[in-house]
Amino acid sequence: MKDTKEYAVLNAMEPIVIRLFEDNYLKQRTLVCDCDKCQLDILLLTLNKLPPRYTSSQAGEAYVKALYLNNQLQSDILTVLTQAVKVIEDRPSHP
Ligand SMILES: [Zn+2]
Repeated sequence: MKDTKEYAVLNAMEPIVIRLFEDNYLKQRTLVCDCDKCQLDILLLTLNKLPPRYTSSQAGEAYVKALYLNNQLQSDILTVLTQAVKVIEDRPSHP
């Protein structure tokens, strides 16, 4: 497939969700279980529930910064993140 172009796309939600997760949960040490598996499950569940916001990798950093400063968006993401934390804590995918 040598004719295939490489499209560098970035879902801006990824870095934003990760940042909010770190600031609001990991640094506060409020998780019932903070193993790698649970952390990843929470991030995946959150990202799957949020509409992606794609941008090009080139424009990515500025776009992510602008989105991150959007208070409404932050609070929407935190709502979904909080629900995801609860789901994974109730049913962790490990014993
Ligand atoms: Zn765990």
